Amino acid sequence: MTTMTEAFRADADWARAQDAADPLRAFRDEFHIPIHDGPPHGEGEQTYLVGNSLGLQPRGVRQAVLDELDDWARLGVEGHLHARHPWLPYHAEVRDGLAEVVGAEPAEVVAMNSLTANLHLLMVSFYRPTRERHAVLIERNAFPSDRDLVASQIRFHGHDPAEALIELDGDEPGGTISMQAIERALAEHGPRIALVLWPGVQYLTGQAFDPAAVAKLAHAQGCTVGFDCAHAAGNIDLALHDSGCDFAAWCSYKYLNSGPGAVAGAFVHARHARARLPRFEGWWGRNEATRFEMRPEFESTAGADGWQLSNPPILALAPLRVSLDIFQRAGMQRLREKSKRLTAYLAWLLETRLGDTLEIATPSEPERRGAQLSLRVRAGRDAGQSLFDSMTAQGVLGDWREPDVMRIAPTPLYNTYSDCLRYAEAALAWRRQHA
Ligand SMILES: *Cc1c(COP(=O)(O)O)cnc(C)c1O
Repeated sequence: MTTMTEAFRADADWARAQDAADPLRAFRDEFHIPIHDGPPHGEGEQTYLVGNSLGLQPRGVRQAVLDELDDWARLGVEGHLHARHPWLPYHAEVRDGLAEVVGAEPAEVVAMNSLTANLHLLMVSFYRPTRERHAVLIERNAFPSDRDLVASQIRFHGHDPAEALIELDGDEPGGTISMQAIERALAEHGPRIALVLWPGVQYLTGQAFDPAAVAKLAHAQGCTVGFDCAHAAGNIDLALHDSGCDFAAWCSYKYLNSGPGAVAGAFVHARHARARLPRFEGWWGRNEATRFEMRPEFESTAGADGWQLSNPPILALAPLRVSLDIFQRAGMQRLREKSKRLTAYLAWLLETRLGDTLEIATPSEPERRGAQLSLRVRAGRDAGQSLFDSMTAQGVLGDWREPDVMRIAPTPLYNTYSDCLRYAEAALAWRRQHA
């Protein structure tokens, strides 16, 4: 237990006082909080603890999208150069914001495509299997899309996932994975591993990994290493450049609040900026200076931009631009500071009020988790489902991941100490009915 927890209290006045003293409190007003209309509180704002699944809509998004529609109506093709935010260099408008969020140099990041598509494109360049070295190391219980993409890449290169896909089991209570386990797996299988594809934050357990530590172990065994930062981007203080990892990708609809199916992000480390790596090419990855000369040969632009295929979807980039502006004003460091304390408060409430009912699978050390806590109901899956349904009916939203995990994530941009208390109170109400 950290000393931080000693001052926590489980009453509404205390929680409200914390919210009032929160230096980031004004940011909540920049989001649409969904409305819950049911008992027991009548109509009111939901307690939305599911920003790890779909972040809420920033109020500025609607106008930003309407502006693009208006510019298209007003200008037609000339919008490429003369829109308020010209479309031709539009992706560059989100570059600095993205770089700040993930701790990268601006030229190392690009907004494009979707997460799974980006991981495929990056694996084309960074998964270069040989006969001796063609395995990929991922974690057991990886997000299905990640497992699918890795297995299909392995097959695409003529190998068999049954042999070449290594899934590392959790070795800690709750199913989390120690650094020692990663080290052991790399020591055992290192010479046949081509790529380590690792989560920044594991979606099911909420465990955060230090990309630098994982990258160091992987590189020591001669493996390339990439990170899926779906649950890490906008959540923990990533330092992707300093981590030394080769590549990373993330989606923007979770903590980055950029809307369903939002344009995803990709990171390629600066040391590969001008490398002649095999890649799947498209005209938007060309050198910008000569892109419109329509030459026959592909000449890639330097940095992550060189992995782009197509001109970007402007209507979908507008929300990302608005969202990143919020992150830049709030600052990742301040957000992380608040996030640690908010999640510690929620964990403290659950441990002290509901410890005999709920078990927290997520690590308790603040450095080994982000906003999310993954919970299991001790009485088993059916009780877990019952609790989850009851919470939803009470206007307290988390999400449910089979077979038995409830995930809740107080996000520092719009969640409050009062939200955390409301979660605990709603769970206690369920327990009173089911005791
Ligand atoms: C959310 C998530 C995805 C979703 O992939 P999309 O390509 O955005 O649909 C994939 N992997 C992980 C780990 C995720 O958390």
